[in-house]
Amino acid sequence: MAARKYLVRVSEAAFMHMTLATIAAYDVPRQAPGKGNSARWNESYGLLWGHKISSDRDSWIYSIEHATIDGHAKTAHSWVLPSTEYREKLSEVVPAFWPSAQLIGEFHSHPYKPQDGFPATPGLSDIDLKLIEEEETDELHKAGIVVFLVVSIKGLQKKAWGNGGHNPANQFSWRMGRYRLSLTAYIASARHSPNSGTQLTVLPRHKGWPKYRHAQSPNARIVTLSAPTGAGIKDFSDFW
Ligand SMILES: [Zn+2]
Repeated sequence: MAARKYLVRVSEAAFMHMTLATIAAYDVPRQAPGKGNSARWNESYGLLWGHKISSDRDSWIYSIEHATIDGHAKTAHSWVLPSTEYREKLSEVVPAFWPSAQLIGEFHSHPYKPQDGFPATPGLSDIDLKLIEEEETDELHKAGIVVFLVVSIKGLQKKAWGNGGHNPANQFSWRMGRYRLSLTAYIASARHSPNSGTQLTVLPRHKGWPKYRHAQSPNARIVTLSAPTGAGIKDFSDFW
């Protein structure tokens, strides 16, 4: 039997909303950051809505149609605390706008200060993995959250526009004006047992972050990200 594989497809609208929220949290100074928090370079968080489609060949497509930004999440430079109430209350009214879309994932951003390095393998941190696989497993599973997207961002000294393509398969990288960005996709595979309940395993495996290399993973190609909008990013600011 062929190995299970997953395609995460991100719509233009969802891609844009995640990117704009990531840039705003990174580069628009917060008015009252609170003691010890920085005004800039903060994380952002939101929910992903769309469809899960499976084939009889153990292939899954997760189609992300919409992203909503949680403006009430508590965020700082290296953490974000989503509000459960945001998820619950939006879940009640979102079907009025998008009857066919379900809550299927979440995204957050990883900001890197302009003077810091950009990780060789941007994506979920060990803390993120622990939250998904150990601490919030039941809550995430009950909410139907299976797709996890991370948008990594770093400020550039000089403006640049460029498309770094999909490499590895679950990641898209690009440069957009004063920012360098990467979008990385993960899925959580669920297993149920009478003794230990629901267990989530994040794919592709990402142990040893940040030294891990996707290419060396046995599951390197198990998750594929498709973000066709990103591939066409160009600077049209001087078009007129
Ligand atoms: Zn994180």
